[in-house]
Amino acid sequence: MRLENKVALITGAASGMGASMARIFAGEGAKVVVADVLEDEGKGVVADITRANGAAMFYRLDVADEAQWKAAVDAALAAYNRLDILVNDAGLSGSAVEDLFDAAAWDRLMAVNARGVFLGMKFAIPVMKAQGGGAIINISSISGITGQHGVHVGYNASKGAVRTLTKAAAVQHGADNIRINSVHPGLMPPMRSSGRTADPEVRAAMLRQVPMGRAGRPEEVANAVLFLASEEASYITGAELWVDGGYLAT
Ligand code: NAD
Repeated sequence: MRLENKVALITGAASGMGASMARIFAGEGAKVVVADVLEDEGKGVVADITRANGAAMFYRLDVADEAQWKAAVDAALAAYNRLDILVNDAGLSGSAVEDLFDAAAWDRLMAVNARGVFLGMKFAIPVMKAQGGGAIINISSISGITGQHGVHVGYNASKGAVRTLTKAAAVQHGADNIRINSVHPGLMPPMRSSGRTADPEVRAAMLRQVPMGRAGRPEEVANAVLFLASEEASYITGAELWVDGGYLAT
């Protein structure tokens, strides 16, 4: 098993790609902290994992809240004694907002998508450093590299921030044996918070821009994250991995 004896905290793990990561990581032997604001869904993911003889716990975490982050990392340590892997996956879409320059939406997108990742690293890195190493994977997007229509500009800005704060932290903590990388999914099943980009016509138009001609499946991103979390990626840090069916190569 690729994550035997590892402890992983995954935010946004109640749904979508994060839930897929939680199941796959547990199947590879990790003890998983499923962290999310969605309690029922998160507990459902934990139940699935334990039914399959895996180890997992749910922790209710709003990633924009600094005090909650500290408590979540403390809870992971109390339950499992260590923290080897952090996946910052929680996120909000920018495609449900009408005004693409709405200031309140900017603040919310930056709070969850960028500040949430920053805070996760703030509390996980000292623990990993004391343990002698770790792996952090931050979920950005193709929107962190390029622009598109119909999405609040704050979504792209927040995902671009994830890309560069990943590189900055990787540079600063390479010597601590903490590897920090970003993953950039392309067109995936809609997010819970998606608006216009969940519309079938809009999706069909977006699909025409994907060289592979189809949307990605959550497990295709989860498996890329698994690779970066595992020892197979032992010399990879500060990198960005596009999982987008070729979208960014066009
Ligand atoms: P999703 O909506 O199914 O999952 C996102 C999860 O984040 C949800 O469980 C939600 O409850 C949680 N979340 C939202 N705000 C939170 C907060 N403040 N604190 C804690 N948890 C919170 O969407 P998904 O498609 O699985 O998205 C996962 C990640 O991938 C996100 O960061 C998203 O921006 C990114 N992404 C998605 C797509 C896509 O097309 N779906 C494409 C590229 C990148």
